[in-house]
Amino acid sequence: MNRLETIQNLKTQSFDILVIGGGATGSGIALDAATRGLKVALVERGDFASGTSSKSTKLIHGGVRYLELAVKQLDMGQIHLVKEALFERSLLLKLAPHMTRKLAIFTPLYQWTQIPYYMAGLKAYDLLAGKANLEKSRWVSSDEAQKRFPVLKSKGLKGGILYYDGQFDDARMNVSIALTAIEKGAFVANYVKVENLLKENEKLCGAKVTDVLGNETFEIKAKTIINAAGPYVDSIRKMAQSDVLPMLTVSSGVHLIIDRKFCPPDTGLLTPKTEDGRVLFMLPWLGATLVGTTDCPAEVRESPQPTQEEIDYLLRYINQSFEVKVGEHEILSSWAGLRPLVSNANFTNTASLSRDHVIEKSVSGLITITGGKWTTYRKMALDAVNEAVQSEKMEAGPSQTEKTFLVGGEKFQPTLPQELEKSFGLPPEVCRHLSRAYGDRAIRVAEIAQKGFREKLSPHHPYIEAEVIYTTRHEMAQTAIDVLARRLRLFFLDQTAAKKALPRVCQLMAQELDWDEAHTQQEEKRTF
Ligand code: FAD
Repeated sequence: MNRLETIQNLKTQSFDILVIGGGATGSGIALDAATRGLKVALVERGDFASGTSSKSTKLIHGGVRYLELAVKQLDMGQIHLVKEALFERSLLLKLAPHMTRKLAIFTPLYQWTQIPYYMAGLKAYDLLAGKANLEKSRWVSSDEAQKRFPVLKSKGLKGGILYYDGQFDDARMNVSIALTAIEKGAFVANYVKVENLLKENEKLCGAKVTDVLGNETFEIKAKTIINAAGPYVDSIRKMAQSDVLPMLTVSSGVHLIIDRKFCPPDTGLLTPKTEDGRVLFMLPWLGATLVGTTDCPAEVRESPQPTQEEIDYLLRYINQSFEVKVGEHEILSSWAGLRPLVSNANFTNTASLSRDHVIEKSVSGLITITGGKWTTYRKMALDAVNEAVQSEKMEAGPSQTEKTFLVGGEKFQPTLPQELEKSFGLPPEVCRHLSRAYGDRAIRVAEIAQKGFREKLSPHHPYIEAEVIYTTRHEMAQTAIDVLARRLRLFFLDQTAAKKALPRVCQLMAQELDWDEAHTQQEEKRTF
């Protein structure tokens, strides 16, 4: 079913659940509900993952920092949440094996007194994971540390601890969840914005929405509405009840991308305490180095941008941790994401509250879910759908998401890159990238490449023309930025390279989507 057919269905059918927001949480809810046999619709006002869900640190983790806080506060509830997230980590590695991986993370220590503290903490992390543990954490001597990270500051280095977490491609995972939901029967559309909620006898019964690309407004009918709008949940809550108190404040988290030379391809770095007591990561990601993050009070806005202060802070950290200096001109890309933080004390006293994520049900029946983290999106989705099923007394089967592979994962084999190389003669780095990004669907991309679309979009990156065609046809990419930022990740990795690739991407999309000259030119002027 293409986007226009989906929109036709949204206009004419009525649904058990309407989900607002196509980030990790909303897409997870659509998938969960569809696997239970519920009739579910999802609308996203921009592209999937265009909000917070493409701007994370890309870690699938229980959170060593959360564990530290839990132990300090002797909070068993929090410890349980870390354990739960570690279980979710193991599920994600299993259900999306192509786009996730185990990553070693090294914590350098410069004082002897720090060693027992961090060693005990990371051993506790292993223990909590139980059977879901990825590999035992271990002590690493300063010699070995220097070998792994030749640019690490050597003065006073005592050694450090190596532990393991998961890593993933957040935006591609988000799109895969939405595509899997569609395969299970959900009606999912991007670029459809909720303008207002509809009520009958004081109870919500649907939403008034605008198809942003078609410039058309229509209504969607649904028994229950789930608000998964991330930092925007308060604006949706206000549509249900104009005088409702806000439940969120937001903070901004910035990441930078710098050259791959700062991290070996298989090991990241964690600084457990920066100058102001924050945790900072430097991680190898898609052939580059990702550094982040910050935590600064912010306003809710559509395209949050990193401030000079945040960039300076991250550069200062890099320059303190390494023997080499990195200047601002060496930043290949940077972005800011908004964390939704539940801050209203009244709200937390009265609502059904888990300390990780929060679910609220309003008098008119709006179910709002927020908080949590990417790693726990599946559990959040399950809890939200349980709430909807119970409050509407809907007939639904049990959730199947614990055993549902994400698109591309089911038939994926680690030998896929070699098979692609042999069958299609594509360069090894392109085959590795296609396998990681599309899993078992990589063969379809390679088949398109074979028909004359095998050129790279940028000389130093493995992305090829066939992907533009594939993601437009099969992954609901609607704009050139959808392709360059969230289906291919080039805009996140190297903004200059992405800008150079933009005209060719527009040309290929114009053929697929029948854009006229004016539309194509408008796309070429789009900014990130
Ligand atoms: P979003 O992704 O923001 O999705 C909400 C969607 O709702 C948006 O796409 C928006 O366009 C849409 N929307 C809003 N209003 C409307 C409307 N009126 N109509 C239709 N749609 C609408 N978690 C981890 O597990 N690991 C990490 O490494 C990690 N790192 C992080 C780093 C940073 C800097 C930040 C900020 C968060 C990080 N997280 C991490 C947390 C994780 O990214 C979030 O928990 C998750 O992405 C939230 O997803 P969401 O779907 O709730 O929100």
